[in-house]
Amino acid sequence: MWIDTHCHLDAPEFGDGHALALQARALAAQRGVERCVLPAVAVWNFETVRALAHRTGDAYALGIHPLYVDRASDEDIDRLDQALSDHRDDPRLVAVGEIGLDFFVPALCEEPLRSRQQHFYREQLRLARRHGLPVILHVRRSADLLLQQLRRIEVSGGIAHAFNGSEAQAQAFIARGFALGFGGAMTFDTARQLRRLAGTLPLDALVLETDAPDIPPHWLYVNAARRSAGEAQGVNTPAELPRIGEVLAELRGLPPQVVAQATSANALRVLPRLTGVSHA
Ligand SMILES: [Zn+2]
Repeated sequence: MWIDTHCHLDAPEFGDGHALALQARALAAQRGVERCVLPAVAVWNFETVRALAHRTGDAYALGIHPLYVDRASDEDIDRLDQALSDHRDDPRLVAVGEIGLDFFVPALCEEPLRSRQQHFYREQLRLARRHGLPVILHVRRSADLLLQQLRRIEVSGGIAHAFNGSEAQAQAFIARGFALGFGGAMTFDTARQLRRLAGTLPLDALVLETDAPDIPPHWLYVNAARRSAGEAQGVNTPAELPRIGEVLAELRGLPPQVVAQATSANALRVLPRLTGVSHA
C-alpha cells in the first residue's frame, strides 16, 4: 500500500469535471495507492477539494497557499476558521494546508507580500493549534523562517512538503514532529543533496508525495528544448507515486514493499485522522 500525501487533483490540468483526475486516481488505485491527501490552496477551492476527496475516497486539507495570499483577504482567515468548524466531524479533513512561505518567487520576496505571507502563515498556525490539526507546509527557500514560527506557535506536527533544505533543517522539522515529503524532485540524478538526504535521513521521518500535477518525475519531464520542438510535458498524477517510491527504495537499498509500508505508517502517524479514511 502507498499513500500520496500531496496531490492537487482539483487542478485545471486535470480537465473539466475532474475527468482526468478520476481516471488517474483509478489507475493509482490499481497500482496500490490506497489514499491521497488533497490540499486546498484558497477559500474558493475549499468545497471543490472536499467534494472531490469524498468522491475519490480520499482525504483533504483546508488552507491558504502562500502563492495565493496576494489574492486573499483578511476575512479569508475567518472563512477558514469557519470551514474547519463546519467540517470538524468530517473524518476526511486531516490537516490545515497548504500553508507556508515561498521566497523563491521574486514578487513574494518583496514587501508587501513578504509580510503578508508571514501574516497568513502565523494566523493559520494559530487556527491549526486551536482546531487540533497538523499542518501541511509549503517550504521554498523558507525553512528557517517556517521553523522560527513553529517554535512560537506550537502545532501537532505535520508534513514539510517538497522538502529541499539542509540536513540541519530536516532534523529541526523532525524534532517538531514533522515528516518530510519527498517526490518527483528526488528522481533526478542531478538532485545530489536531495537524494543524499532521501537515502540517509531516518526512514521513519519520510513520506511520499507526487504534488501532482506539479513536480513531474524525470520520466515525465520534457525539457525546454524538447518542448519548443513540440513535445508535450507529461502530466504528473498520483499513479506515479509507486514508481517514485521505488526510487526512494533504490536510494536506501531497501525492497519497495518496505518503503511503502514505512512511508504509509509515517503518513498515518503525522496525519492521525488519515487512519479513519478508507478508500471507497
Ligand atoms: Zn501543493
